[in-house]
Amino acid sequence: MDDQYDVLVIGGGSAGIAHARRAAEYGAHVAVVEHGPLGGTCVNVGCVPKKVTWYMASLAHHFKHAADYGFSVEVNGHDWAKLKSRRDAYISRLNKIYEDGLDNSGVDYLVGTACFVDAHTVAVGDMRYSAERIVIATGGKPIVPELPGAEHGITSDGFFALTERPARVLIIGSGYIAVELAGMFNALGSATQIAVRKDGLVRNFDSMLGRELKAAMQKDGIKIETGAVPSSINATDAGLTLQAEGSRMIGPADCVIWAIGREPNTAGLDLDKAGVTMDGRGFVVVDKFQQTNIEHIAALGDVTGRQALTPVAIAAGRRLADRLYGGMAERYLDYETIPTVIFSHPPMGTVGMTEDAARDEHGDAVKIYTTTFNAMYYALGEKRQLTAMKLITAGDDERVVGCHVIGDGAEEMMQGFAVAIRMGATKSDFDDTVAIHPTSAEELVTMR
Ligand code: FAD
Ligand code: NDP
Repeated sequence: MDDQYDVLVIGGGSAGIAHARRAAEYGAHVAVVEHGPLGGTCVNVGCVPKKVTWYMASLAHHFKHAADYGFSVEVNGHDWAKLKSRRDAYISRLNKIYEDGLDNSGVDYLVGTACFVDAHTVAVGDMRYSAERIVIATGGKPIVPELPGAEHGITSDGFFALTERPARVLIIGSGYIAVELAGMFNALGSATQIAVRKDGLVRNFDSMLGRELKAAMQKDGIKIETGAVPSSINATDAGLTLQAEGSRMIGPADCVIWAIGREPNTAGLDLDKAGVTMDGRGFVVVDKFQQTNIEHIAALGDVTGRQALTPVAIAAGRRLADRLYGGMAERYLDYETIPTVIFSHPPMGTVGMTEDAARDEHGDAVKIYTTTFNAMYYALGEKRQLTAMKLITAGDDERVVGCHVIGDGAEEMMQGFAVAIRMGATKSDFDDTVAIHPTSAEELVTMR
């Protein structure tokens, strides 16, 4: 029997939709299977509702500086439920746009949960679909540890479902989600605590970022408990408490949030029936062409356990379609030098190597340029917030191999610098670029 589809994509998130639409543009007959709302994590419980909430928190920060600029502004509370309903309505509009997008591209949208029947057949409910190629793009979900009382905590998914703002919040974790959510709650006045199991925040990033973020958050009133390895969550009359190893009690809080990483959605896929290999944590193993150990089955996005970012998922999906259906035989996504922003308060942007990684790879050939300053925005008031920047160069020609910024505007600054760094810009290219004044970004081309 002929296959019904050229390609069947499991998962209608960032990666799956990007691949499906690009493949269809090349003329492939494509279907996407999705059991949740279209758009996946990013649109429904990730980047989009997060950024909307970040804007809300940023406004709260701006109100605090309004008087410095001569305004008399009285903030009469904040309606969390109203924010949520407007945010939900925006997401519903996006879901519809994604559905229309599939339709316009001629992609079949199959609603339901997919699992493998064999290497060329997928079951969705009672239906069976065969395809020449199958793409696994099922993303991931937040990890909840197997500890006593862990179920009292919510995750980032639960954060977006909150209908009212908790007065006291305890966030467990030290990465992207922990610091982003902490900044948002704190800006609105929730008593906010973060419990980290090691000694600092965002430890996978350049150490300057974690150090400056910790100082900024503490100055802003966020309590950071270090060395707190979770052992249980207890519901007490006073609220929820985290018991950390060593009989240490942290809390009480009205809401506990687990933000300790994500695991892949592979458990119910019956990958064994197709013979697809996973690693020890359940991520699908792929080569640089996104191909699994089974030649006609590929995997994309978070389910592959590489940088779990939306533009990465999209880029991998489109490049795979370019290669398989667009005649670009050598096209693949290079996972090096991927820029990223953490929407903390203040935000942080980073591209390229950390100082430690650069020193490991280039030894004494590394040169570091740093600057710290108070952005002009704060010049008229007493309440200031530091901006810190670091450029890392390697070799005699001082090629810029890392760029790290924490401070207002970092989130918009990094994209352009990422282009330059990917193209191999040197420190003298930065120096020869005329500054844009007055901005914070100009410091990156005037460092000595
Ligand atoms: P997903 O978007 O998760 O899509 C997978 C889809 O597969 C889902 O819709 C799921 O329902 C579906 N699915 C799973 N199993 C099945 C099955 N068996 N049958 C049918 N359908 C199935 N990234 C950024 O770049 N910037 C940000 O600011 C950012 N913020 C984030 C904030 C939060 C709180 C979170 C959690 C993530 C954030 N991310 C951000 C990461 C980003 O959301 C993910 O990297 C991205 O969504 C991954 O896309 P994906 O297609 O691989 O997976
Ligand atoms: P992260 O991987 O960013 O951070 C989780 C951290 O939690 C770990 O690095 C670890 O830090 C700590 N941790 C791990 N296990 C435990 C444990 N058992 N107990 C206590 N702490 C633990 O994960 P997040 O959940 O914050 O985010 C998931 C992913 O989603 C991110 O990696 C990112 O790719 C994506 N994302 C992207 C965003 C963006 O682009 N702005 C925003 C949000 C998410 P340590 O070793 O220091 O303890």
